[in-house]
Amino acid sequence: MALKYIEEYRDGVLARGLVKKIHSVSKKDLRLMEVCGTHTTAIFRHGIRSVLPQGITLLSGPGCPVCVTAQKDIDAFVEFARVKNVIVTTFGDLIKVPGSSSTLGKEKASGADVRIVYSVFDAINIARENKDKEVVFCGVGFETTIPTIAAGILMGIEGKVDNFSVYSANKLTPPALAALMETDGVEIDGFILPGHVSVITGTDAYRDTFEKYDIPSVISGFEPIDILQAILLLIQQNEAEKPALENAYPRAVSDAGNGKAKQIMNQVFEVCNASWRGIGEIPLSGMELKKEYQKFDAAIRFGMDMPDVPEPKGCACGEILMGLKSPYKCPLYKKKCTPMNPVGPCMVSSEGSCAAFYRYS
Ligand code: SF4
Repeated sequence: MALKYIEEYRDGVLARGLVKKIHSVSKKDLRLMEVCGTHTTAIFRHGIRSVLPQGITLLSGPGCPVCVTAQKDIDAFVEFARVKNVIVTTFGDLIKVPGSSSTLGKEKASGADVRIVYSVFDAINIARENKDKEVVFCGVGFETTIPTIAAGILMGIEGKVDNFSVYSANKLTPPALAALMETDGVEIDGFILPGHVSVITGTDAYRDTFEKYDIPSVISGFEPIDILQAILLLIQQNEAEKPALENAYPRAVSDAGNGKAKQIMNQVFEVCNASWRGIGEIPLSGMELKKEYQKFDAAIRFGMDMPDVPEPKGCACGEILMGLKSPYKCPLYKKKCTPMNPVGPCMVSSEGSCAAFYRYS
């Protein structure tokens, strides 16, 4: 559905028409996963769950970067904050995520120099202004964020900013989808694929996963009309038993994606195995600095190698991220775990499933 203005993607008449169509074509019970945390929040904010047929269940997936960051990586961020003369720079959501023994927020309250930034470029500027200190940037993101981190490193080289480094806990989306499909007990009838990640990767990035698992997959934008349309397409594919990889966000996503962003990302980073909270290690799902850029690798610069540790007792973030549980099924939800006192990252991040359920449902 090609519309001209953003308001049209929020149009009530169009939305009601799509909801009516969804009800008329929906016969089977289906479990559809919105992979991206921004979709989870948008779905709640627009009340989309409440207008769907009863048989359509929406599951939140592993697309919130803070939520999938492994406990050992959170512990590493906390350890950096404890090193003398280090300034830790981080996106705001990470500051409250509990590590094994502390949070970045608690370390800051105890005197550590932890600063919230809006991009890696802020971190570079902080490094420029604090030549007598080391600045570590907590790299947590998907394909949307990684090219900017790569650009930051190139900028650091150009500006001879040597007191700056990145701890890369960055991750790639398609390998996580494949890992979900390989996990026992995971039942998914279709993926609502992330719009902003797809702007970078392009539709082609999902082709291998789609072809291997024959799973209905639709790239969606974030307005209510976008999301309803993606849901309709997934239901139609399932009802017709004709799985397809469709791009319902063509105003932003092309087949090939953003070539320049991918080129910068692949110039600085290379694919590696990565630990995902609750899921464990997924082969070739992370991005680490290439050898020629390793002097900007904070883990190497500081010899930081934190051990794997279990997630907080009772926290079901891992199962929620795999669509195996809803936050309601976590015994700690709204009891021991609230946005003021989060136990796991899914309650911290603005894109986290538990936080979205808490705020909107
Ligand atoms: S409610 Fe809290 S403890 Fe339970 S899964 Fe969510 S973040 Fe973890």
